[in-house]
Amino acid sequence: MIRGGEPYSGAANDEDAPLSGVVSERYRCPAGFLDFYLSGELSSDQGYFRFGENAICYGRTCSGTREASPQPVLYDRLQDAVIEEGKVKLPFDPTEIIENLRRERYPQTQLTDYERALKRLYYQLRPFTNQWLRKRIQRFHARRWRNLSFPHWPVDTTVENICETLLLLSLKAKRTDKIPFIWFWPRGARGCVLMTHDVETEAGRKFCNELLDINDSFGVKASFQIVPEDRYAVPASFLDAIRSRGCEIAIQDLNHDGRLFDDKTEFLRRVALIHRYATEYGAKGFRAAVLYRKAEWYGAIKLSFDMSIPNVAHLDPQRGGCCTVMPYFIGDLLELPVTTVQDYTLFHLLNERSIDLWKTQVELILERHGLATFIVHPDYVSGPDTRGVYESLLGWLREESDRHNLWTPLPSEVDSWWRKRSRMSVVQDGDSWRIEGEGADRAVLAFARNANDRLVYELADTGRAHSSH
Ligand SMILES: [Zn+2]
Repeated sequence: MIRGGEPYSGAANDEDAPLSGVVSERYRCPAGFLDFYLSGELSSDQGYFRFGENAICYGRTCSGTREASPQPVLYDRLQDAVIEEGKVKLPFDPTEIIENLRRERYPQTQLTDYERALKRLYYQLRPFTNQWLRKRIQRFHARRWRNLSFPHWPVDTTVENICETLLLLSLKAKRTDKIPFIWFWPRGARGCVLMTHDVETEAGRKFCNELLDINDSFGVKASFQIVPEDRYAVPASFLDAIRSRGCEIAIQDLNHDGRLFDDKTEFLRRVALIHRYATEYGAKGFRAAVLYRKAEWYGAIKLSFDMSIPNVAHLDPQRGGCCTVMPYFIGDLLELPVTTVQDYTLFHLLNERSIDLWKTQVELILERHGLATFIVHPDYVSGPDTRGVYESLLGWLREESDRHNLWTPLPSEVDSWWRKRSRMSVVQDGDSWRIEGEGADRAVLAFARNANDRLVYELADTGRAHSSH
């Protein structure tokens, strides 16, 4: 299903987007509350700096020093943020800085020549090597990941930290005790959990039926990412079987050869085919093989959403990370970031057979009311030990959902919700506020407050407080 017209209008992607663009996109708060302006001319060069204790940023600034690498001591720009005449004077453009993170426009994300060579070797050898050698190569690649300080392992919430600091400054600038906004999830859910299955091989495809049974026994509906070419046959009956169980289909790459983003012309040729398969499969979502990605090329992908950008990618073949646990727009494409470690990585790189890391990640994500996205492969959970790990994850997630009022939709439902929310607005209604727009009946009004220099969220209808940290 190719996305129809209806371009998203609120996205801050233009060169001349306002400084508050991405912050107002995130909160959907009335425009008057966010009043940012630059303290001076932006530098011509870019570099790393800090904005408060927990936000390493990259980009241009008006003052201070910028570093070439995310070293432990960085100049903190928060001390240069000043409140003047009801406005917040900033030494950088928050929209630019947040987009640099979300689109991975910082140096570390590029594959080094060494990594590029390793990737080529890996794919050349892959058909001939056994799993043991493949794991060796991958572990060799991942060996130094614990030394990486940025993005933050095991979950990076830099974008959340920046946005909350900016809201705190705005509360002070406007001398108000609360800023109204549209709560992130429908009906006031505390956070959102997505289960996605990438079908890698014929063996994985064969295990899908059993996986559907396992999921159903825990009441979970998932999306299945199908490789259209070369990997396995994709009969209509297979897709129907998945859909008839209330699950959905997304496109995984074209042929999974790891080269989708190697060459622009070839990329465009493949994207045209991907669009054809999406129409044929009734798919609205996309995921690239091995989470290879190039956000600059995403404009060509005319699907509704993408699920290929990791939150923190220390253990993925392509390093980097989007540093957020919330959906965000890249042009008209909605990005649903991958915010938890993949099963393959957990089982074969970290040699884990417990769900402790997954639990830690989900807890960190939910503290920020974010999106917990799982990639579990039918290919890797068919063994008795790994299957057991997956089942304990589902059991734990079910308890968490009940305990914390989590939303567990299909990815296309998140896509649809986030698009509608992006067109809703908060309007004044007497001495209170009201949400207007299509889908507003599911939306909940919330307030951001300053509690001893900490930003807290509060739902209007229930009076239930959501502490933000
Ligand atoms: Zn894959």
